[in-house]
Amino acid sequence: MIIKYTNFSDGIHQFTQTETVKNLKLEEPFFGNVEIRCKMDKSPHQIVLDCDLLLHTKLICDRCTQEFNSDLTNHFQISYLFSKESQKVDDFNFKFLSPVQDKIDITGEIFEYAELSIPMKTLCREDCKGLCPKCGTNLNLKKCSCKNEKVQDVWEPLKKLKDKLNN
Ligand SMILES: [Zn+2]
Ligand SMILES: [Zn+2]
Repeated sequence: MIIKYTNFSDGIHQFTQTETVKNLKLEEPFFGNVEIRCKMDKSPHQIVLDCDLLLHTKLICDRCTQEFNSDLTNHFQISYLFSKESQKVDDFNFKFLSPVQDKIDITGEIFEYAELSIPMKTLCREDCKGLCPKCGTNLNLKKCSCKNEKVQDVWEPLKKLKDKLNN
């Protein structure tokens, strides 16, 4: 996504853009469109860009192995300082902008922050019952006739806590 900042006057501007995952080179689990909502604060010496991403994903539940749709969000802020000399900085969120440039390309940032939005642990829902370790039945859909005391034990403290919270 390219922003031609010379088209903007000094001050605060808000804009929303939609890009396909294909254009952003994002692959699975992303699909469809990515919504990018940005706030640009432009002043004579710098531009501060604040962007929110809304991403659609198809994830696999760690507990029941079913695919489910999940909308993820992420946010990033980058400061661009106008400077004649292009200097390299380690800070990921700080860049120099040479006066000959009239555009900012945030495609790379959108890609990075989209990837970072994927959670380490994915659950189709908070209380997913998972699969029966013996017969593989998806316990969200139906009960099986296996007796599995071990699984029961694992859930017992949580159930007690839930009962407590409900009372
Ligand atoms: Zn699940
Ligand atoms: Zn079973």
